[in-house]
Amino acid sequence: MNKKECEIVNFLSELFPTVSCELNYENDIQLLIAVVLSAQTTDKAVNKVTEKLYKEYPTIKLLAKLNISDFESYFKRLGLYKVKSKNVYNLIKIVCEEYNGKVPNKREKLEKLPGVGRKTTNVMLAEFFKVPAFAVDTHVERISKRLKLAYANDSVLKVEQKLMKKFDKDLWIKLHHQFIHFGRYFCTARNPQCNQCKLTEYCREYKVYKKE
Ligand code: SF4
Repeated sequence: MNKKECEIVNFLSELFPTVSCELNYENDIQLLIAVVLSAQTTDKAVNKVTEKLYKEYPTIKLLAKLNISDFESYFKRLGLYKVKSKNVYNLIKIVCEEYNGKVPNKREKLEKLPGVGRKTTNVMLAEFFKVPAFAVDTHVERISKRLKLAYANDSVLKVEQKLMKKFDKDLWIKLHHQFIHFGRYFCTARNPQCNQCKLTEYCREYKVYKKE
């Protein structure tokens, strides 16, 4: 890794030495559903709705007893809850029928499940199966672009490819969480803490947000 990437890793490790996924789950299907639900909403909001659902239906066998309208009643506080409920219902069905109730650990299979895109696949691979992957969400994308790890007009896929090239593979899983924490609690979209930041020399937006 280059000096810049090492300094980023060091600063993020100083700020967030221990990080973990903020979605609550106890098994593979619970994590998969939570990540599908997290599209365009916060982990906190997802945890609120899954807490009740997973308490009453903790396993895929039990979840498979629910129909789409049951899911809608649990997810109604989330945006896009109708689409999400349908996707969750269908993906449970597929995992039960085609994968014997176990969420598959292969990218090609995960990406074919309803509502599961590249980001969800990467989260599942990295978080549950511990297969190195670098999921790019809105925070990871913003931080990468601010720190000139990617161009401002790069696609999400391009950002992911650049991050994987620049950072050592054994750091990806932890670094992904550290980027998210950095974006959520330090380098936020509208009020980043530039005056405490040690990465100003690499940042394309320092001058915009620094406070005099
Ligand atoms: Fe974020 Fe400010 Fe640091 Fe740039 S200087 S990375 S905008 S906190």
